[in-house]
Amino acid sequence: MAKKPEEACRQKMRIVLAYLERKYGREVDMSILKKRNDLFRLLISTVLSQRALDETTEVVSERLFSKVKTPADILKLRRAKLESLIRQSGPFRQKAKKIIAISRTLEKEYKNSFPRTREALMSLYGVGPKTADIVLSYGYGVPVIAVDVHVDVVSKRLGFARANARYEEIRANLEKLVPESGRYIVNLGLVSFGKEICVTRKPKCGICELKKICAYYNSNKIRVSKPKQKINR
Ligand code: SF4
Repeated sequence: MAKKPEEACRQKMRIVLAYLERKYGREVDMSILKKRNDLFRLLISTVLSQRALDETTEVVSERLFSKVKTPADILKLRRAKLESLIRQSGPFRQKAKKIIAISRTLEKEYKNSFPRTREALMSLYGVGPKTADIVLSYGYGVPVIAVDVHVDVVSKRLGFARANARYEEIRANLEKLVPESGRYIVNLGLVSFGKEICVTRKPKCGICELKKICAYYNSNKIRVSKPKQKINR
């Protein structure tokens, strides 16, 4: 008798989890950020990653944080200087506006602390669910799935979400299938897998060990829509 769709999905996720753990498990760094300045850097780097390539984000973030460490440092910079430091990073004026607004709020309301909940993070200007979930997962070790561009694309290709599913739907689908103990490996593993093998523009299906269970590979009917890039993420 054929498996029910939900059980088939769970079984598929078990295979994906085992594969990610085998391939990337040893690279997983479970160290959680504790210092306010590290959380600040993670948050601002995630804002910088919006509508930007990973490599560009790393360079721009490194450049910015070689000059500043704290929200107060950002507020001391002239806006033109901040914009020139992050110019490479896509819509840099919009991002500078967000970074300044976030720094103001942190200075005013979180002088010696940092927002700890999804709601508190999302109340910061320009911070949407994706950015909040990344800080919760990588910054605080909260077992949430953070759907970045790679998680979005790979989940749809494997068949864990509809081709036109939006952020919250993908997150809910994955969280239903992945136990809390596996969410960190899914976040890190799917990002690495998306960068190396299931590349957004041209997936390397020929060398992919998941092709047997991949909906995209096994059905040419499935189209993967490019994730919508919104200003507030
Ligand atoms: S078979 Fe291709 S599309 Fe499917 S997960 Fe592997 S690389 Fe991605």
